[in-house]
Amino acid sequence: MSSKKKESNTNSVIKIKNVNKTFYQGEFAFPVLNDISFEIAEKKLVTLMGPSGSGKSTLLNILSAIESADSGEVNVFGHQLFGADEKELTIYRRKTIGIVFQFFHLFPYLSAIENVALPLYLSGTAKKIAVSKAKEALFHVGLKHRLEFTPKEMSGGEKQRVSIARALVHKPKLILADEPTGNLDSKSSEIIMKLFHQCVHELGISVFLVTHNEQIGESGDINLRMLDGKIQKK
Ligand code: ADP
Ligand code: MG
Repeated sequence: MSSKKKESNTNSVIKIKNVNKTFYQGEFAFPVLNDISFEIAEKKLVTLMGPSGSGKSTLLNILSAIESADSGEVNVFGHQLFGADEKELTIYRRKTIGIVFQFFHLFPYLSAIENVALPLYLSGTAKKIAVSKAKEALFHVGLKHRLEFTPKEMSGGEKQRVSIARALVHKPKLILADEPTGNLDSKSSEIIMKLFHQCVHELGISVFLVTHNEQIGESGDINLRMLDGKIQKK
């Protein structure tokens, strides 16, 4: 049996196989992801580190269905993203994943509640239910006292907690975060990482996050490194 090629693990919820991505500018090709394969089991906090320009965001954007691979298999919670049509991808984005950005991407004139309720409004949830779910998510990230505050009235750490609440509000299976602590002081980063760990170990949500911070990059259940368009598991 030992000579047999490793088969896909049925417990894996993220399965990436032979994924390639090249960007083109005019006649110049910039290969970014080079035949990447890896699998992640459910309910794990995954960190991904690597030098700037190594393709971390590109990989995350492929998992977020913001960008598509050139070839390979991208299976996330049973959704085969490579080759999927726009309708399937929309359902995937709305139901399966939540996204957290480095610079929060909150609407400046909306309160914390309205920012968190917005994705629910967009998917047709009635206002009363959306507001009640948004409140619940904001309570969960410890922002009970900031419900009516707008982003400019909150600290960076609080804004990131609002965006985590927004990512959680539809109860996703996977949170994808690109340098979520990249713009925060160390105290706020600690609070944010604690929340991600709670998401995984208390709510059973998988988290996949890109970081530049060595300490955070060592703190996951699985810590991946990216180099020369390839993934190395630590
Ligand atoms: P990282 O997040 O690790 O810093 P990225 O995934 O953002 O790296 O980018 C990897 C490489 O791909 C970089 O050299 C970047 O310039 C290039 N790249 C990213 N997006 C595009 C794009 N839309 N068009 C052309 N080149 C791109
Ligand atoms: Mg990046």
